[in-house]
Amino acid sequence: TEDVVVDAPEDLVPRAPIVTVMGHVDHGKTSLLDYIRKANVIAGESGGITQHIGAYNVELPNGQRIAFLDTPGHEAFTAMRARGAQVTDMAIIVIAADDQVMPQTREAISHAQAAEVPLIFAINKIDKPGANPEKVKEQLAQMNLLVEDWGGTIQSQDISAKQGLHVEELLEKILLEAEVLELKANPKRLAIGTVVEAALDKGRGYVSTIIVQNGTLRVGDYVVAGSNHGKVRAMLDERGNQVKEAGPSTPVTILGLDGAPTAGDKFRVFEDEREAKQIATKREQLQREQTIRTQKH
Ligand code: GDP
Repeated sequence: TEDVVVDAPEDLVPRAPIVTVMGHVDHGKTSLLDYIRKANVIAGESGGITQHIGAYNVELPNGQRIAFLDTPGHEAFTAMRARGAQVTDMAIIVIAADDQVMPQTREAISHAQAAEVPLIFAINKIDKPGANPEKVKEQLAQMNLLVEDWGGTIQSQDISAKQGLHVEELLEKILLEAEVLELKANPKRLAIGTVVEAALDKGRGYVSTIIVQNGTLRVGDYVVAGSNHGKVRAMLDERGNQVKEAGPSTPVTILGLDGAPTAGDKFRVFEDEREAKQIATKREQLQREQTIRTQKH
């Protein structure tokens, strides 16, 4: 019995967009994510985020936040979607301006379209001598994807991920898109969300990076993630700082699960430990039965 909680309209408040970065290999996805992660755009913090984790939050000088899934490539996106996870609110499609729309660019675009997620194009590597962003936009137009400069409605931004050129404008366009989407969540309910990555850490036990999509997750909460469960012993933000709670659109790393759930697994907080255990055991059983059935075939 995994009931669905319906949020009362008066409990809904705006939440930050959750963004994924996709595109053809070598077009600059990692460079863009690294630049944003390391850049000092985060208000009130002296440095960027140094360590890599599967998702991070940035806060712009005006106080607005964006959550990035740091799992470049559409493999992670499709794997999560295959598990029923609908995490991203929009997709940044990176295209190198010294190259052109490539097979994986087309794939990334169709994945985002299938998920009904709005696109923003980041036309990258404009610092390179042979860069020709207009050629890329023309190609997009031929695919019926009209960017704003070409009289269309799709946002696009010329950038250099390597030099950090116009990345702030790209972030502003993400926030503009988010405004149109009117993203909302209810911070008062028990948290639900999706697992981004998980692993067994020598000293710390099972460490899972998750993103809260609705509600607020707190230290001490009983969580079920996939067929794993546990009491949240500690939570860390993208800077490795301990936090007591995480609201909607917040990625956090949690300690305390009894195993490593799979990326794309949903997680949910339960009122009490007994209920959490029961659900996790039932899921484990189902999974075992499924495995046996597949082995028989
Ligand atoms: P990914 O495969 O899409 O993640 O691409 P990477 O971020 O790994 O970038 C591929 C290569 O392009 C690397 O050698 C980067 O240094 C380079 N690169 C990425 N962005 C830029 C850019 O804006 N300008 C230049 N000149 N090179 C870039």
